[in-house]
Amino acid sequence: MTANEIRARFLKFFKERGHAILPSASLVTPDEKGVTNATLFNSAGMQPLVPYLMGEPHPAGDKLASAQKCLRTTDIDDVGDATHATFFEMLGNWSLGAYFKDEAIKLSYEFLTSKEEGLGLDVNRLYITMFEGDETAPRDEESKQIWLSLGIPEERIYFMSAKSNWWSAGDNGPCGPDTEMFYDIVGGLNLKNKEEFIKADDEQKVVEIWNDVFMEYEKKEGRVIGKLKQHNVDTGAGLERITAVIQSKSNIFETDLFAPVIVEIEKLATKNQADFKAKRIISDHLRASVFLIADGVLPSNTDRGYILRRLLRRAVRYADILGIPEGNLVNLTKVIADIYNDSYPEIKNSLNKIKEEIKQEEAKFRQTLVKGLREFEKGTDPFILFTTYGFPLELTQELAMEKGEQIDLRKFNARMAEHQVLSRAGAEQKFAGGLADNADPQVIKYHTATHLLNQALSEVLGNGIEQKGSNITAERLRFDFSHPNKMTDEEKRKVEAIVNKQIQADLSVGQVILPKAEAEATGARHMFNEKYGDEVSVYYIGNDLATAWSKEFCGGPHVTRTGELASTNSAQAAKFKIVKEESIAAGIRRIKAVLE
Ligand code: ATP
Ligand code: MG
Repeated sequence: MTANEIRARFLKFFKERGHAILPSASLVTPDEKGVTNATLFNSAGMQPLVPYLMGEPHPAGDKLASAQKCLRTTDIDDVGDATHATFFEMLGNWSLGAYFKDEAIKLSYEFLTSKEEGLGLDVNRLYITMFEGDETAPRDEESKQIWLSLGIPEERIYFMSAKSNWWSAGDNGPCGPDTEMFYDIVGGLNLKNKEEFIKADDEQKVVEIWNDVFMEYEKKEGRVIGKLKQHNVDTGAGLERITAVIQSKSNIFETDLFAPVIVEIEKLATKNQADFKAKRIISDHLRASVFLIADGVLPSNTDRGYILRRLLRRAVRYADILGIPEGNLVNLTKVIADIYNDSYPEIKNSLNKIKEEIKQEEAKFRQTLVKGLREFEKGTDPFILFTTYGFPLELTQELAMEKGEQIDLRKFNARMAEHQVLSRAGAEQKFAGGLADNADPQVIKYHTATHLLNQALSEVLGNGIEQKGSNITAERLRFDFSHPNKMTDEEKRKVEAIVNKQIQADLSVGQVILPKAEAEATGARHMFNEKYGDEVSVYYIGNDLATAWSKEFCGGPHVTRTGELASTNSAQAAKFKIVKEESIAAGIRRIKAVLE
């Protein structure tokens, strides 16, 4: 069965069982100008459906299914192994209060094993995990009974901890146990117990192919407070992995979704032909880039554009390792487009643009790469590599790691901070999530005002408040946060006074890039249900990071000093004003504020 047939079969199977088939949403999550939202891409099939899983009725009904384009930059370091890609497709089916565990598990099982309408997988190679229970929720005996009733032997069903088999959207909202299906990709493993299973999983002899999440409980402030009125089901199965299983391949790169690309890479390569990791990385990163450009992302120095740039640059680096001559990576786009001709016509439709962007980006980076590699070999400092040669820090880190060395990030950041004071704009433009290419100065002011507001709110309402969203235009800021009560007039006045005081204090605004753990250790505010990269950018307001009044995970951009937010009318003092405070959902408040 081809991957295209598997996708079609999945959708048909669920359509015939009463599910409305939804088209894939764009890879790019929706936002408006100025939104500070760290979720840049859809990374799971459920992501475009979040409002409906939270309770909003879906216009297409209460049973849904889709094949969704996903991008997980968090998996970038795993690309090269047997089962991880940055871009992949997730097949999923959803029940919005329609069916629950019993039917969900039966549907998964039937699709995986039915020869006529499903995939006809060998049931003897299937292994199942589920939630073992803890102080917040009981062991998921129910799921176990359902699997047993379907004929899965007890020795192939394992209870696991919350770490692997509990899903939640953050500290507030729905959560619940999941049950995961694994497949023996080697064949004949015949694992007899949990220890053997864990070992096989570790060695990638069994791979997770499908995950059924049961949204059954509700969390408030990190605690399970009870059961939800409406129980939902959210499932996700990776098309690439399922295809590998069906096509009897031990890794996703040998499936028909990748093999033609790998063949083309082998044609272009002039050295290191045996470097399969390089081939996998190039094929993955090019495929992801093709899909990103088709969805309107262009290489740049900020957020989405920077992710694309990073993928392309990394592909160029591995092309260099394989001796693929400059200007040839673009040959892969046609091969990729052909694979997705019918399923994702947006690629074919923007193929010229895709080719042009990839060509340009490769041309720009080849020079930098050659010079930077030479300097790196000489032992040149990462800071010099970055500022003088434009060599990206993450590449220096990768090269160092391959030699078993580590970059002293503290030193790098310290030099960077110094450098920024000297040539702020110039330096920042090279940062991931740095100065936006064309951010409106008024929007930037409101962005900094949002950080001041966030901190002021926590001082007035307590540290329990958590940012839930924000939206900024040149006219106003909007800020959503968790808080159980309507703010009193006095609380609002206090918040305004604090923000205005900090504007008048003309505090400096600084940025550091830190490994995630170090960034968290600074106590910087961030959204708990967001996935951040390995390195995060922290903006702080105050003289230095240690003593700063406000610290937040944020990609910028910001003003240099808070004094820039003061009224341009010199007769008037700074005027940050809350114009509206309202509830937008249970426990979520929204503030609209202006700078007068
Ligand atoms: P793993 O632990 O193997 O990384 P996961 O727990 O991150 O998987 P889920 O978030 O449960 O996976 O996603 C649902 C399904 O999507 C998985 O069962 C798998 O089939 C697929 N999937 C997840 N990540 C990737 C990836 N990076 N590349 C390809 N398929 C993936
Ligand atoms: Mg994962």
